[in-house]
Amino acid sequence: LVAGLEALKDLPCETVDHHRVALWVNTGLMADAMISLERGAEGVGLYRTEIPFMLRDRFPSEEEQRQTYRDQLQAFAPHTVTMRTLDVGGDKSLPYFPIEEENPFLGWRGIRVTLDHPEIFLVQIRAMLKASEGLNNLRIMVPMVSNVAELEIAQMLLYRAYDELLEEGFQIEMPPFGVMIEVPGAVYQAKDFAARVDFLSVGSNDLTQYLLAVDRNNPRVADLYHSLHPAVLRALRAIVVDSHSQGVPVSICGELAGDPAAALLLMAMGYDVLSMSATNLLKVKSVVRSVTLEQAERLLSEVMRLPDTESINRVIDATFRNTG
Ligand code: PEP
Ligand code: MG
Repeated sequence: LVAGLEALKDLPCETVDHHRVALWVNTGLMADAMISLERGAEGVGLYRTEIPFMLRDRFPSEEEQRQTYRDQLQAFAPHTVTMRTLDVGGDKSLPYFPIEEENPFLGWRGIRVTLDHPEIFLVQIRAMLKASEGLNNLRIMVPMVSNVAELEIAQMLLYRAYDELLEEGFQIEMPPFGVMIEVPGAVYQAKDFAARVDFLSVGSNDLTQYLLAVDRNNPRVADLYHSLHPAVLRALRAIVVDSHSQGVPVSICGELAGDPAAALLLMAMGYDVLSMSATNLLKVKSVVRSVTLEQAERLLSEVMRLPDTESINRVIDATFRNTG
């Protein structure tokens, strides 16, 4: 941990003029949770449930999942933990559930897999709901949604699992339900999605890959993978406007939120929650605490006028050189 940053751990994440932005973390293992708490995380914006699945040699049972989820929820309580339902396919595969496709990033992944296997989805949702009993700090979100029907079916399965558990005698609250915006088509439907859910969360890793048609893991095209591309920035801003037009909060949980300069732009756009890897948390907090909201907004409006990533990076570098 960089010396000096540690002192920020318990200070609020707010600008010089007291505009607050929530800094949450992305987790997968219990170790992430511990590091996050040490650094003063105020919640979990993305708990990647596929990570505990990857550590096993078969699908974890409902009870095994309940215990794993309970540990996360308990570690962060009373702070919110946003659990994402299983996101396999694409670059993430389970050894005991192989998916072989020509074009995995455009294929069977995320919600597409779990809606085709409602038994996997329902067991997972039941385990999450049971784990939240008495804590009530759970949010559930679904990945890779590309149309309204997917989110409505997922929601219906959530209600079904919830009703079953009430009948079985569990005392649980219905958790907020959200969808990830990570498919370009979803950007243009953010309003339709927001009208049906409790929150949106942007997956900027996949959104960048799909908007720019650049495989996020292919080194040959890595120099085209620009999360600060004008097209990505316009999409990110449009999502906030549409989400807020429905009175729905919006988070971002891709790597971009952990980049201090990008975090300022995202805060200026109006993102309610920036969720990042714990390693970036205090760096981002230190930068947020060094500016006014107006300065961040000015940087955003300057950057939004530029035609390419190179000039955007130049402006950002110059700004950071001037302010130290
Ligand atoms: C994303 O796509 O930005 C995201 C947060 O999800 P993942 O990186 O797990 O695909
Ligand atoms: Mg993703």
